[in-house]
Amino acid sequence: MNPFIYEYPVKTFFGVGSVGKHLGTLLRGYGENILLAYGGGSIKKNGIYEELTAILRESGKRVTEFSDIMPNPAYRKVQEGAELVRRHQIDFILAAGGGSVIDCCKIVAAQAKLEQDIWEMEFTKHQYPDIWVPMGAVVTASGTGAEMNNGAVITNEEKKIKAGVLGACADFAVLDPAYTLSLPMEQVISGAFDTLSHCMETYFGKPEEICLSDEIGESVMRNTIRNIRILRNDPQSMTARSELMWASAMGENGILKIGKITDFQAHQLEHQLGAYTDCNHGKGLAVIHPVLYRHIYRNHAARFARFAKEVWNIPEEGKTEETLALEGIQALADFIREIGLPTSFTEMGITEESVLRAVADSSNISAGCCKKLSREEMFEILKECL
Ligand code: NAP
Ligand code: FE
Repeated sequence: MNPFIYEYPVKTFFGVGSVGKHLGTLLRGYGENILLAYGGGSIKKNGIYEELTAILRESGKRVTEFSDIMPNPAYRKVQEGAELVRRHQIDFILAAGGGSVIDCCKIVAAQAKLEQDIWEMEFTKHQYPDIWVPMGAVVTASGTGAEMNNGAVITNEEKKIKAGVLGACADFAVLDPAYTLSLPMEQVISGAFDTLSHCMETYFGKPEEICLSDEIGESVMRNTIRNIRILRNDPQSMTARSELMWASAMGENGILKIGKITDFQAHQLEHQLGAYTDCNHGKGLAVIHPVLYRHIYRNHAARFARFAKEVWNIPEEGKTEETLALEGIQALADFIREIGLPTSFTEMGITEESVLRAVADSSNISAGCCKKLSREEMFEILKECL
């Protein structure tokens, strides 16, 4: 196991009714001026906006709204939010949404406190923010686990880069599984696949020998797979929604990464493509994973064989490590098809031209624990995904 420091700063409130029960009390700890941040309007249709604004009113807060945060948040939106925070002397940011809203707010919170441009600061000077406007997250779409950490995925449209930026960490996160009931099933499933992807990308990191974090990860993966199946048969199942919401948090709250160097190569490939196509994150990952794994499994064959046994319950008897490893990857591919996620970029409407442009500009992709990919290999993988 690699050496580690573990500190967990996000106070988490989980369960149906958690917002009504806890948010008012939590807000007492902050100043008057609140930025209420949300996306394209789903919270106005499902009643969440009414519930939040009523609590804010009762708490005597002055509210500034920051709306229309788009899926795959753009850097220009971050700057718009930071400007609002400065202009209205915001004391606290309340992010109500999925990964996109929460990620955008993490960087808004940090940018608002900085004189310099956060993108330049992080990517040119390799300096990272250590102060921010405090924020809290009310999760309306689970899968990313974005409420649990200080990493945000932001698309810089000008530079054509979708990348991880470090910003604020929420002081608290409120997770009410009933808030996800209005989420289209397609998004529920792509979000849950994102959770599975976070677990896999951590699991196939280093070190090669199995550790406690990996064994917990296997359990989170099995749980996620099982509950996706339950939810597809019974979309109202609050048990399955709850399990998936907590699995999503577990994927990104750092516990699975304790003592590990993670990989996130599929994510980096998806981000690169996302910068050129604005594609759905979970769907892009679903297409990339099996193809990527068929390219790299030989470099970590024992772990891929274990993945087959422990996660997909494939019997080992009489099989070589290679056969078992390939059967595990096939089980993953079959599952992706079973749950209705796309199996090719073409199915997602992504053209060969976008793939070509994304790969031509792939110098920022560096991760890869099992195997560092050359640009030619990335090109091969992404072309195979077509
Ligand atoms: P999202 O982009 O936040 O939301 C997707 C869609 O779901 C939006 O159109 C949104 O509509 C809708 N929605 C959200 N909650 C809803 C609800 N309760 N009812 C109905 N519709 C609802 O999706 P996401 O998958 O959670 O986030 C994706 C982003 O997170 C990507 O940019 C990805 O790269 C990033 N990400 C971050 C991390 C991290 O650790 N920071 C990890 C993985 C991925 P409205 O806009 O109208 O609300
Ligand atoms: Fe992700």
